[in-house]
Amino acid sequence: RAKRSGRARWQLFDATMHSQAMNRLTLEDEIRTSLLAGDFVAHYQPVVALADRTVVGHEALVRWQHPRRGLLSPAEFLPIAEDSGLVVGIGRAVLERVCTALAANPDAGGTISVNVSAVELGRDGWADGFIATVERHGVDPSRLVVEVTETAVLSLSPDTIRGLVAVRDLGVGLHVDDFGTGFSSIALLRDLPVSGLKLDASFVTGLDDGVRGAANLAGGLAGLVAHLGLTGVAEGIETEAQADALNRQGWLHGQGYLFGPPAPWPAWPARQG
Ligand code: C2E
Ligand code: MG
Ligand code: MG
Ligand code: MG
Repeated sequence: RAKRSGRARWQLFDATMHSQAMNRLTLEDEIRTSLLAGDFVAHYQPVVALADRTVVGHEALVRWQHPRRGLLSPAEFLPIAEDSGLVVGIGRAVLERVCTALAANPDAGGTISVNVSAVELGRDGWADGFIATVERHGVDPSRLVVEVTETAVLSLSPDTIRGLVAVRDLGVGLHVDDFGTGFSSIALLRDLPVSGLKLDASFVTGLDDGVRGAANLAGGLAGLVAHLGLTGVAEGIETEAQADALNRQGWLHGQGYLFGPPAPWPAWPARQG
């Protein structure tokens, strides 16, 4: 009996594996089709100065306008896009849209940040492609920021770091995303020409959950960021109490539902001065 139920379990396992593989292939095919159709769009979430809540920039966050399933968030397709390498095409599509938005609004102030994964950065020629796109659109490079997660930074090869340095030399900002969740915090600040750090939302949530040490950590990191002359951006701010605490700690910029959700078009601030 044990044997029979064992076999049944295997058959079930097989069937599940099979359907997962099919789903995966279907999804990859749909991504390919959607890349050609222009179904990958960017939504833009405001980044504000915590002191006075003025908009200082936006983060571009990819969305898939799926022909049947509606608007999909990165969690629903990025893992497979990264595994299959299709994220490279998605990243290009997002950068195209961001550069188009910037070029159409040369008199607006503020930056747009784009997220770049380790898979994209690891491709030969990523930096050359990025720079060529920025130049083709005639976009001021200082209006762009590249966000790389702290975890991705761990896997960067010397070639990739050289590419990031070239992008930085052009005047593009470089922010370490989800800061505080990886293990490379200090060495990466030495090896990479970073211009800013984004404090991971888990630290911000901890501020009102009373997580022991959360306030000390966020405050201490703000000091480090200021000492290094970097821009500090706190992510995932949902309450006034969090915004106030982070502002008092010295976090310069903030982002979160409190200030505005990701939306289809950036709310451009007027250029200062
Ligand atoms: P991330 O870069 O850390 O982006 C922040 C995420 O937090 C976004 O999720 C955003 O919508 C969400 N968020 C913003 N404010 C709040 C808040 O107040 N509370 C909470 N709970 N969440 C908030 P989203 O858009 O689903 O993106 C998830 C991740 O997908 C991003 O994390 C980023 O790592 C990745 N991603 C997004 N767009 C791209 C892209 O164009 N290329 C690549 N390679 N990765 C991307
Ligand atoms: Mg980001
Ligand atoms: Mg983040
Ligand atoms: Mg994240």
